[in-house]
Amino acid sequence: MKTLQEDLSARVAAYDHWSQRRRHGPDGANNRRLWVLACMDERLPVDEALGIRVDTPAGGGDAHCFRNAGGIVTDDAIRSAMLTCHFFGTREIVIVQHTQCGMLSANAFDLEKSLRAKGIDPDSVQMDPTLPELKLEKGAFAKWIGMMDDVDEACMKTIETFRTHPLIPKDVVISGWIWEVETRRLRAPTKDAAKRARTDATSAQFGIGERQPRRWN
Ligand SMILES: [Zn+2]
Repeated sequence: MKTLQEDLSARVAAYDHWSQRRRHGPDGANNRRLWVLACMDERLPVDEALGIRVDTPAGGGDAHCFRNAGGIVTDDAIRSAMLTCHFFGTREIVIVQHTQCGMLSANAFDLEKSLRAKGIDPDSVQMDPTLPELKLEKGAFAKWIGMMDDVDEACMKTIETFRTHPLIPKDVVISGWIWEVETRRLRAPTKDAAKRARTDATSAQFGIGERQPRRWN
């Protein structure tokens, strides 16, 4: 039987390595060599949905997790995925979007109009003041917001976009999933109406008639 002294020495050494992971580049990967892209919604519990522990307890750390409105592809999502896949040892990407998403709950053109009514001119706003080179073409603001017509479709397109993006290594394993807020279960994205019958997965279910500006062809 090991002494407590031996156990403690091993624990201290392991914690030291963990705390210094980013010094080791690809050899200091997170536990599961995993990058997660998830919607920011508070009803999407990433750890519970995926059966992992993203950032707890101290000394753990199964994944790098990026959250934004919708869990969709954006330039910053690509930036973060590029960094973790190329330089921090990540070998897998998991995308989680969810039913009842706020990104289904309005039309992007109406949101843009509402900002204009508040005196904001989206066409003259700098997207990132630290990177003035990053510009939207005039009229692209509503598209930039990234509202969805259908969360399953958006999830499938998000997977495809990461799979074909030149900044993401070709051998990274990529999958996407839908968290059903209503049933608290994870499912694969699907267009099969029966499989999503108990859930709100489209903007039409939120009473939105007009289609969103297209982010994918
Ligand atoms: Zn959401």
